[in-house]
Amino acid sequence: MTDAPLKLFNSLTRQAEVFEPVHPGEARVYTCGPTVYNYPHIGNMRAYVFADVLGRTLSWKGLKLTHVINITDVGHLTDDADAGEDKMEKMAAERAQSIWDIAEHYKQAYWADVKALNIRQPAQWTVATDYVPQMIEFAKGIADKHCYELESGLYFDVSTVADYGRLARAVTDDGEGRIEAVEGKRNAADFAIWRKTPAGETRQMEWDSPWGKGAPGWHLECSVMSGEVLGFPFDIHTGGIDHREIHHPNEIAQNQAHCCTNGLDDPRNSGARIWMHNNFLVERSGKMSKSSGEFLRLQLLIDKGYHPLAYRLMCLQAHYRSELEFSWEGLGAALTRLKRMVMQIERLRARAEAEPPGTGDMTIRQIDEAISNDLNTPRVLENAQLLSEGKGYASDRLAAIFLCDELLGLNLETLTRADLRIRPKTATITEAEIEAALARRKEARAAKDFAASDAIRDELAAQGVEVMDGDPLGWEWRLGE
Ligand code: AMP
Ligand code: ZN
Repeated sequence: MTDAPLKLFNSLTRQAEVFEPVHPGEARVYTCGPTVYNYPHIGNMRAYVFADVLGRTLSWKGLKLTHVINITDVGHLTDDADAGEDKMEKMAAERAQSIWDIAEHYKQAYWADVKALNIRQPAQWTVATDYVPQMIEFAKGIADKHCYELESGLYFDVSTVADYGRLARAVTDDGEGRIEAVEGKRNAADFAIWRKTPAGETRQMEWDSPWGKGAPGWHLECSVMSGEVLGFPFDIHTGGIDHREIHHPNEIAQNQAHCCTNGLDDPRNSGARIWMHNNFLVERSGKMSKSSGEFLRLQLLIDKGYHPLAYRLMCLQAHYRSELEFSWEGLGAALTRLKRMVMQIERLRARAEAEPPGTGDMTIRQIDEAISNDLNTPRVLENAQLLSEGKGYASDRLAAIFLCDELLGLNLETLTRADLRIRPKTATITEAEIEAALARRKEARAAKDFAASDAIRDELAAQGVEVMDGDPLGWEWRLGE
């Protein structure tokens, strides 16, 4: 049934490769999770929708999936290299709050978005601060051969591993000024695996280590959590495309050091066999950022009345390796597409009831081929639509659509038209009130009392409700902002 060989684009080799599990019948995946110092923006959530589709695909293919996503609550600096402050410490200082409270608040906010976007729960959420002793052990194991100590911390010397930067395709001394100089660093790309608390200062989060009080580096965290939970080598490591440049090359360098052999050709040494990266969601004005005040959160979309799964569909309409531009028009179009799909399913259900039972035969070869071709979700979506419009027994087609939805995660089995109605948070009138007014209007029209019918329409308009007679999508009414 799902026989097409699964091909995934490996950023390490810059090629699509046939997926061969490290452990037969299993798939082990690690996804770099959020740094919980602020709300995630919808671009961040694209990274988790992508990882979710990957996980769903591996399960669909019959593999036993173990997916791990981490929560970074310490160590991620305001710059991905070693510049700036710890994002968590900075936010805590600005808010005069404890880091632990901040981490908890934003972790919950992130989980709410995960749920709203129908992203499946991974087997495990690893929280960085739960793994500090293991991080210290890992660092001790590689310190002698691969690290050196400076006043500010323990640094990894990238010249001690072969092929540093192969993933990024960057030369070690890139000379672009991307990596801020730390005095005493041997190579510009060297990075801190342990950051010492400066003398005379105390950090909210700090631990004792052989290199003094301090906190682990962000790159160390992911090497340790992925190795601890999934074991080296595991199958797939994912993250956004920005991680291909610094974070993941640094993880790989640490993994190589830890696995004690140089070179990336032995897949054990890079930690994961396949490294996958989703491209960015961008705004017309440029890169989306949550560090710069105003940013797009999923909750903003919901407050404006959009169903969060319309955003999920918007992500799926683009291939994960393509840049995707966010616009409200685009989101509106995705919502309409989702509604059309839901309406087709309603029609198919009605037909299935009137028809004899189907044959149970479903041709899902095309869906299998599409998803197996490096997760071509735009094609899977097209196939789901063709199924809803094409020939054949309605019950067979419904079953095939729901099988597509195991990959897409759009809740097509349970979503209703009413769920998808645009309903901004600012609206005060309730749906029941609108429906009641519309029912009265219908009666008035049936009785040819057009004055009464128009009056009801005007009353609704005064409350922000636009009545949409004869709308082809059957919206019937819409609430303005
Ligand atoms: P962070 O919380 O900053 O570590 O980011 C969480 C995840 O979102 C990482 O995998 C990033 O690579 C990814 N990411 C950040 N910005 C975007 C964006 N605009 N579009 C897609 N993914 C993003
Ligand atoms: Zn990571």
